[in-house]
Amino acid sequence: MPEILPGVHLVEGVSPSPDFTTNILLLKDKKGGGWTLLDTGLPPGKAPTDVAAQIEKYGQQHGIPLSSVKNIVITHLHADHTGNLKALAAKTGAKVFAHWIEAAYIEGDPPYKGPGMPPPDRVQITEKVRDHTELDLFDGLVALYTPGHTPGHTTYYCPSRKILFAGDSVFNMGGTFEVSAKDYTFSQSMAVISLRRLATLDVESVIMYHGAPVLKGGAAHLKAAAKKGYGSTPEN
Ligand SMILES: [Zn+2]
Repeated sequence: MPEILPGVHLVEGVSPSPDFTTNILLLKDKKGGGWTLLDTGLPPGKAPTDVAAQIEKYGQQHGIPLSSVKNIVITHLHADHTGNLKALAAKTGAKVFAHWIEAAYIEGDPPYKGPGMPPPDRVQITEKVRDHTELDLFDGLVALYTPGHTPGHTTYYCPSRKILFAGDSVFNMGGTFEVSAKDYTFSQSMAVISLRRLATLDVESVIMYHGAPVLKGGAAHLKAAAKKGYGSTPEN
């Protein structure tokens, strides 16, 4: 069932493996009749499928042609989120949104030297957001600065529908929420602090990038993860 909530499509066929899911989303914009793509998947050659082609195919099958994608929102710089940004931004002509810190790294000035895969291409970010920037996309989104996983990682919250698009601020590890693991995290202690912030929100649905979305009762999972802190992985 790809439309997991009204106007929220989870693109099928883009995950590298059942253990490493990548939740690329297409969100219906309440205003303007277009669509917003949230993160763009692994770059060509790093995934078993051509992710950009799969996003296009999925859209065609569900009445979402690429020409209707007016906006692309990026949670953070890592290549499994920005892998097809260049191609899809060029193909759609969409506006591209990212936090101003991530924007600098995605634009390649300076290059990112931190943990995790850097962006594969330099891409111009046309719309730079900061904490509490309100976006007239989907049913209204608020950008929440949640650093830790990367220096400018940003979570997008829809207050009217109590949906948190969490990116990599939290992972669903087989039903248990956890802060991102040390190996690909800029500052795990900062990620824990950001998670505490998310745990204060009025949230029903948490759709993270890795692991199964939790559509009901998401706040309790966030609170438990924030309380646990570093979880099963050692801190850095
Ligand atoms: Zn990441």
